[in-house]
Amino acid sequence: MTLDTLPQLNIDGRDVCLRIGVDLGGSDIKFGATNLDADLLLLSDLVKLPSLTQEGPQKTTSQILAGITAVLTELGARWTQIADISVTVPCPCSADGVILEVTNLGTPENKHLWEMPFGDLLAEAVQGEAGCAIPVFACNDANAAGQDDDFLRFGHEPDSRTSVFITTGTGLGGCVLIDGTVFYGIGQAGELGHLKLAVPEMYANRYSADPNPACGCGGQQCVETRASLTGLIRRVTWALSDEGIALIRNELNAEGREFNPDTVAKLRELHDVAPKRAAYEVRTFADQHQDAFCRWLLEDWAIMIGALFASLSPVLHPNLFIIGGGLTEMSGPSRDWFLGVVKQAYKNINTQRSFQSKSGNCEITWSKSADQGWRGAILMGMRASQG
Ligand SMILES: [Zn+2]
Repeated sequence: MTLDTLPQLNIDGRDVCLRIGVDLGGSDIKFGATNLDADLLLLSDLVKLPSLTQEGPQKTTSQILAGITAVLTELGARWTQIADISVTVPCPCSADGVILEVTNLGTPENKHLWEMPFGDLLAEAVQGEAGCAIPVFACNDANAAGQDDDFLRFGHEPDSRTSVFITTGTGLGGCVLIDGTVFYGIGQAGELGHLKLAVPEMYANRYSADPNPACGCGGQQCVETRASLTGLIRRVTWALSDEGIALIRNELNAEGREFNPDTVAKLRELHDVAPKRAAYEVRTFADQHQDAFCRWLLEDWAIMIGALFASLSPVLHPNLFIIGGGLTEMSGPSRDWFLGVVKQAYKNINTQRSFQSKSGNCEITWSKSADQGWRGAILMGMRASQG
């Protein structure tokens, strides 16, 4: 591939042929590039640099410039050939790319540094480096991931469709896509992790010791408090107590599932060092060893995701409910197990025939997008500029 073969556009006197996408994460920043239609990936491997978001927006801006420079060097391209730069951020953003609330950037001590127009800062720095103004667009990372998934399924076709997308990780992000475009409401629609959901009666026993968890947003009973790594870190401390072990063992016995005391001993050891370590291993044991104790804990997520979808179907009646994020990395059999639990919970909670989950109607499925939020950002920037 050479850049000369790509279609070009003249924008403000510049002949542009590529778009840059940046995925601003907590541990690393990923950079990718596409042609103008965003359907051709120009780099075989993404450029990755360590994230400096903990050190504030100035350092982050320098790091983004360094990453884009690396992309341009790899492609043999010039700054002036870039049509636009789109960046995902782990915070709510408006439809026109303004950060609305600083939620997951920086440390508690320096978070205030981020309370500034980051898009303007980046645009100014880009102009200094490029010698010309290049549009910069910021968007929420979960929205970008949902947008990329939609593009992989439907391309640029504006066919009638409604999808609900969630991404599982440290928190639970989400978005609603209508006819291929992220729905914002008047600002922050799609913050699905903060939907307040009571535990369905049939699952009350498993959550009996943890009936009213507090969320980082200040609310209570947000889905995110149960279906996220943050929730699991809280739960694992209870699960490894004598009381927790007894409850889980009883539930497993009642279902004829095996309780392996060795797993619990290993998790307790890790938990003594740091609860986080034990929580990370829960997923590994649930996936690689099909351990029933660990799977029971991850079923917390699956059940509440099923409950979330069951609550949303009467509001949106979507074609698709899509699960993205870290869980998509599990092995095939583990993905089947997890999706099975989500579907069963959905079916138990929403019995209305119109909302039955089947192909094309409230269908529950895994995301097709892997690690391409950066391209989702490009697509969102394109849609925003088309107005
Ligand atoms: Zn919340």
